[in-house]
Amino acid sequence: MKFSDFTISDEVLKALDKLDYDSPMEVQEQVIPLVMQGRDLIVKSQTGSGKTAAFAIPLCEKVQIEEKKPQALILAPTRELALQIKEDVQNIGRFKKVRATALYGRHPIDLQKRELRQRVHIVVGTPGRTMDHIERGTLDISSIKYLIIDEADEMLNMGFIDQVEGIIKTLPPNRVTLLFSATMPERIEEICNVYMKDSKNIEI
Ligand code: AMP
Repeated sequence: MKFSDFTISDEVLKALDKLDYDSPMEVQEQVIPLVMQGRDLIVKSQTGSGKTAAFAIPLCEKVQIEEKKPQALILAPTRELALQIKEDVQNIGRFKKVRATALYGRHPIDLQKRELRQRVHIVVGTPGRTMDHIERGTLDISSIKYLIIDEADEMLNMGFIDQVEGIIKTLPPNRVTLLFSATMPERIEEICNVYMKDSKNIEI
């Protein structure tokens, strides 16, 4: 299979070519078409499986470049992962001019506020700092159409799951939700049951 078998734009295909992504990895083959259709997904997959591009490719494809408010929110357990995801999104979206920013703790909040005042399409954040920006009104969530919860089991292990749930509750209900996790503890299943609709399970 080739990336050009999906209905994705020349700009994104060109970016994948520059990244030397020759063909889709298994998780990408399964996830990309379903996100393009707007399905909620629960994906059981490990780090290294190519899961970041599996959501970053359809998100870059779906964002409206002219829209000024953030359209996708990606939650990640650590600053390192948030920065890595932001970089992957920027690389995949570079020819479409997709703009992404990362929000994480122990970093000056004013710098992040300034970034958020620019046009940003995709926000990647750790739960605590993301909630902080939502409460301060510096992250406008009114146009969020995609929520991605990455490494959900790690969020649980690190004690962030209640914050994740708090963020989910504030988001517009009319959205697509994707949850990625290597394991499926009961608390994560509960979150899926309560906040996702007609979701499809994928296991890699
Ligand atoms: P991830 O599981 O998202 O951390 O990705 C694991 C690694 O695979 C990263 O270094 C990606 O840059 C790389 N990668 C993702 N998709 C592809 C692809 N289709 N072809 C080659 N490498 C890829």
